[in-house]
Amino acid sequence: MPTNNASRVLHRKPGSMPEAVIRASGLRVWTGDGREYLDAVSGGAAVSCLGHGNCEVEDAIRRQLAEVSFYHTSFFTSEPAERLAEALIDGAPQGLSRVLFCSGGSEAVEAALKLARQYWVERGELSRSRIISRRQSYHGATLGALSVGGNVKRREIYAPMLFEAHFIGPCYEYRLREAGETSEDYGRRAAAELETAILELGPENVAAFICEPVVGATLGAVPAAPGYLRAIREICDRYGVLLILDEIMCGIGRTGWRYACAQDGVSPDLLTVAKGLGGGFQPIGAVLVGDRIEMALMEGSGELKHGFTYMAHPAACAAGLAVQCYLRDHDLPAAARSRGDELRAALSDALREHPHVGEIRGRGLFLGIELVSDRESKAPFDPRHRVFARFKQAAMERGLLTYPGGGCVDGERGDHVLLAPALTITSQEVAELVERLCLALGDLPFAQFGRARI
Ligand code: PLP
Repeated sequence: MPTNNASRVLHRKPGSMPEAVIRASGLRVWTGDGREYLDAVSGGAAVSCLGHGNCEVEDAIRRQLAEVSFYHTSFFTSEPAERLAEALIDGAPQGLSRVLFCSGGSEAVEAALKLARQYWVERGELSRSRIISRRQSYHGATLGALSVGGNVKRREIYAPMLFEAHFIGPCYEYRLREAGETSEDYGRRAAAELETAILELGPENVAAFICEPVVGATLGAVPAAPGYLRAIREICDRYGVLLILDEIMCGIGRTGWRYACAQDGVSPDLLTVAKGLGGGFQPIGAVLVGDRIEMALMEGSGELKHGFTYMAHPAACAAGLAVQCYLRDHDLPAAARSRGDELRAALSDALREHPHVGEIRGRGLFLGIELVSDRESKAPFDPRHRVFARFKQAAMERGLLTYPGGGCVDGERGDHVLLAPALTITSQEVAELVERLCLALGDLPFAQFGRARI
C-alpha cells in the first residue's frame, strides 16, 4: 500500500490518505491500523442492508460471472435482469409495472427525469419540461440530479451549470410546524406549496414533482408528516403532474416497509431505488416505472430515448436478486420495524435529558438525531464549529461509524447524525451502538460550540 502523497487515487480530501478498510463482516469493519468499528450506517451511506459479507449473494455473483459477465441491452436481455425486475414489481406500489436498471442512485434519478420528459413528448404536451423539487433534499451528484437537488452545499459551485428547477419548502415538522398546528394540518399546509408552485409555473409547463418520502442525508431521516404525501399525490393528479419518489436511501425495507411510500398509502408514477438494492455487493440502481408511462412510450415512438452501457448488468442484477431474496426470506423489513423500535427506544431512554439532543426521528432503521445548542429555542450551534464533523470523529474514536451532516436548518446551520445500520442488526448490537454513541456525545465539548441565531 502506498502512503500519503504516493497514492494515485484522487481521494475525497486530495493529498491525504484515508485509512484502508481491510475486512468487514456483519456489522463489524476492520481497518489497516488495527481498529475495529461497529457500522451504524451500512457501509457509510445506508447501502449494506444485509451487513458485510453474505455467502448467498457472493455465490450468485460468481455463478452469473461464470455464465455471462456482460452483454449490451441493445442486443439481449438476461435472466437475472428479468427475475430481479419481477421481484421488484411483486409487491410494489400500485401501478408500477416495469423496471429500468442502471448502476446507482444518480443514474436512477437521471433516468426518471428523462422518462418524465419523454412521457410528455410522446403525449404531445411538449411544453411540459419543468421539474418541481424541494429545498433541503438530495437526489444525486450528476448535473441533472444535482439540478433538482436542494442541498445548498452540494449545488454551490456547480450552480451556473445546472438546469433551472423550481423549489418548494421541505416537509420538516420539527422546525416548520407552527405552535397549535396538528401534524396533519402541517402536512396539508406543506403540500399546498406544491399547488402554488404548479399554478405559478403553469400546469401545462410542469413535467414532474420529485421528493424523498423520508429525507436522508440532507435533513437526517425526516419522514413526511401524516397525510403530506397523499395530499401531494392529489395535487399532482389534479394538474396531471407526474410524481417521482426517490427511495434511493429510504427504500428496500429500511423504514420497515419494502417501499417507504407504502406506509403513506401513496403510489408514485416513477420510483427510484439503489443502495439497498444491491446491498453494496454490486453497484446497481433502478427506476420502477408506472403503466401509463410505458403505455405512452409504446403508443408513441416505441423506444426508450435514454440508455447507459451498463444498464441491467448481469452480475449486478444477480447480486440485486440475491439481496432481494434474502430480504424476503428473512423478512428483514419486519426486522427493521422491531429493531428500529428497540433502537429508537434505547436512544430516547439514554438521551431524553440530553441538553443538546433536539429530536430523535425517523422510521424503522432509518433514524436521525438533531443536535441543538438549546432545546427550548431549538437554536443550532454556530456552524463554524462543524459540530457534525466533530461528532463523526468522536464516534470513530469510540469505534462507531455514523453519517453526520451539517446544514439541516437552512443549508448552513444545523447538525444531525444519521443512523442506518444493516437490517440484520441484533438486539445486542443495538445496545452497543447506543452505548458508543452516548460515549461519543459525552466526549464533545458542547459548551465551546456557541449558538447560531435562528
Ligand atoms: N437520492 C438519494 C435520496 C440519495 O440519498 C442519494 C445518495 O446518497 C442519491 C440519490 C444518489 O445516489 P448515488 O450516490 O448512488 O449516485
